[in-house]
Amino acid sequence: MNLDVRTIMLMWSGINLLGAGMMALISFHADNVRGARQWALGHCCMSIGIFTSTQMSPEWPSLIIASVPFIAGCGFGLLFNGIEAFKGKCCHYWVPAWIGGQMMLQSLWLGIVHDNVRMVVTANSLLVSAIFAACALSLNVKATQPLKTAYNLAAVSFSFIALVSFLRALNILLKPAEEISLFAQGNVNPVLIVLGGLSQLSISLALVLLITFRLVSDLREQASHDSLTGLLNRRSFEDESKRLLARATRTGETLSVIMIDVDYFKRINDVHGHQAGDEVLRRLAALLQSVVRSEDCMARYGGEEFCVLLTGTGEQGAAQLAERVRSLYAELQISWKNEALQSTLSAGIADSLGIGMDLAALVEAADQALYRAKNAGRNCIALYSTGS
Ligand code: GH3
Ligand code: MG
Ligand code: MG
Repeated sequence: MNLDVRTIMLMWSGINLLGAGMMALISFHADNVRGARQWALGHCCMSIGIFTSTQMSPEWPSLIIASVPFIAGCGFGLLFNGIEAFKGKCCHYWVPAWIGGQMMLQSLWLGIVHDNVRMVVTANSLLVSAIFAACALSLNVKATQPLKTAYNLAAVSFSFIALVSFLRALNILLKPAEEISLFAQGNVNPVLIVLGGLSQLSISLALVLLITFRLVSDLREQASHDSLTGLLNRRSFEDESKRLLARATRTGETLSVIMIDVDYFKRINDVHGHQAGDEVLRRLAALLQSVVRSEDCMARYGGEEFCVLLTGTGEQGAAQLAERVRSLYAELQISWKNEALQSTLSAGIADSLGIGMDLAALVEAADQALYRAKNAGRNCIALYSTGS
């Protein structure tokens, strides 16, 4: 193979420039995704660093020669910071400066003071390898699909480029003195640079995928959850319940539905304001989340109405849970602007033994029971089976 290292590095620089453009566009349009700006700037720095190193000549002023490894190093550090920011962590702005400074110092010390190109390339390649390995480790996070795929792809790409940089350091370290240069030809160095460029391309694509999948996940979350309480919205509740009903039909287990409605909620809004009402809804949702099992399904069904579908539970079991929620809520004091808000709730319960495996019918029956609880004076629960 007759590969020219300088040409490949120019292409590598071009890939980074394209990556920088893509990330800049993304950060401009999706400004809610953190990390994209650091990635854009990081790609840009790497592009400038790699391009300038292919053109560098010893006649250049030493300040410019020294700034090249600094810019490239900052670029690597910015990639790392972008990952941290993407994960929602706070980034330390000294990281890119420290990596850039370290690369500059080792290049100046080993290259200009000791005139030892072998050690410059080896030391810089090892440092780059360590940074990319740190990026790969930082991408090892728990996530749900499809975000997990993008995290994995990015982690593998960073690991691969870390390995390539390490092999490059080894290759240069073991080369005969007369073949040592930044652009050493031969059989191994050009192949390593091609592999490095390809993994760089893979990194850029994986980072774009990460942002895209984050946006997809956010949109899914927004479409399926109620923004005030964080519970499922009615449509997702119906989808999820139908899945649970189909499973219960197969296994023969009993399901029950609890309909919950806050008593005289309109008064809270009228007396304390709409925001106080919102706070009450948030606190009730949190209370429900703390007592309902994760395998059950729960949603904000309407304004101040909540619906819970319990699996493997009949009316009596559901009544126990509803009674617990009712009494906990009745005792709950919600502090709001130097006041303590306190209210009660009523609940209606129906189960599949009496109604069958039909969601609409179960909700309708629980609603009828709720109506009876309201008529019975509120702050109580009612079973569908005992009222018909
Ligand atoms: P009852 O005991 O019969 O249930 O009386 P209620 O006042 O709770 O019932 P009503 O249906 O008359 O009032 C429900 C109120 O809930 C009316 C509506 O303005 C309010 N509401 C609906 N959605 C929201 C919301 O997201 N935030 C707030 N603060 N209020 C809401
Ligand atoms: Mg209501
Ligand atoms: Mg109400």
